[in-house]
Amino acid sequence: MKPVLVVLGRGEVPYDTPVLHANDLGVVRGDGVFETLNVRGGRPWLLDEHLARMARSAQRLELPLPSRDELVQLAEQACASWPADVEGALRLVCTRGRETGGPVTCYATLNPISPQILRMRREGIRILTASLGFAAEARKAAPWLLGGAKSLSYAVNMASQRWAANQGYDDVLWVSADGYALEGPTSTLVWLSGDELCTVPTDTGILAGTTARFLLDHAAERGWRAAERMVRPAELETTDGAWLVSSARGIAAIREIDGRKLPESPHDAALRSLAGFPN
Ligand code: PLP
Repeated sequence: MKPVLVVLGRGEVPYDTPVLHANDLGVVRGDGVFETLNVRGGRPWLLDEHLARMARSAQRLELPLPSRDELVQLAEQACASWPADVEGALRLVCTRGRETGGPVTCYATLNPISPQILRMRREGIRILTASLGFAAEARKAAPWLLGGAKSLSYAVNMASQRWAANQGYDDVLWVSADGYALEGPTSTLVWLSGDELCTVPTDTGILAGTTARFLLDHAAERGWRAAERMVRPAELETTDGAWLVSSARGIAAIREIDGRKLPESPHDAALRSLAGFPN
């Protein structure tokens, strides 16, 4: 399936069209916000939730986002001729624009879900814990750290994943300096403890994951209660299942943390079907 590129104010353009100037602040400062949405049945899933989070991120960066209607139109244009049977990852990007001033730069791309991600869903993941270097409470009093904002400054996120890959692991679980599990560099931690489906509270400065929120909001359909609480990585070894989840990733079962195996969860299929990812 050919990837799609739509630029705000220009419409769809060939995918290899250059859309950024050399002094775009998104490039030279990582100054902007983005969202990645799951496209299923030819439609963006949880569009409202993603646009609401994008607006919150933009507010934290004091970035003038285009109107909601313009962003909806951008998403719809990108999906317009995408086949219903191909799952996709739709990325909405908005940078602060050129260093010399002027409007924001805003565009959308749509790509099929990568084979690497499909493998993670199928086989589960082996992960390493890695400290973010500050306490779980630290970001509450430090808004400049942009906790909870999905900014374009993802170099640390990517470096974390490369660090794990270089040691033969699939991903990272970030932990606070005081030893609590936080999130993955591109995913939210979800675990099942008895009949409680849990995730980490967002006041720790983690990104408020739309996939985890959906799972917790629908937990009752599987007879589970929803809870937000702090957890230490070692505790995950004795839960009834632990997963890293995201809009692109879907539901990836954690099979190993820091070399210690987690038992296969009997609830894997139930969680997976709750979120309705096609694969
Ligand atoms: N946490 C971080 C840091 C992320 O980058 C992402 C997604 O990209 C997530 C969590 C999961 O969020 P969502 O479920 O909305 O895709």
